[in-house]
Amino acid sequence: MSTPQVNPFKCSKCGLCCKNISNIPECEHLDNGNGVCKYYDEETKLCKIYEFRPEICNVALLWERRYKSKKTWDEFLEENYEGCKILQELEKNKK
Ligand code: SF4
Repeated sequence: MSTPQVNPFKCSKCGLCCKNISNIPECEHLDNGNGVCKYYDEETKLCKIYEFRPEICNVALLWERRYKSKKTWDEFLEENYEGCKILQELEKNKK
């Protein structure tokens, strides 16, 4: 069974999760008013506070603290990649 250390989450750095936070109550304080996180850097497509990002944005930490007892790391990774795929599909269909 793999762990975050052995098989880390491979972020594609598309930035879409940081640009679609309006329906996430836990991210309400991060929303700059249009669903984009106030810490998202449009130029680099990266997080300006990456080292200190909230737990909800840190896949490995989120699993350790909230999901480890409910699902394996591989299952959690798969769910996250599925979320990435959905956001990328929605974005593609906007164009
Ligand atoms: S805090 Fe950083 S990782 Fe979290 S949504 Fe904002 S830009 Fe993205």
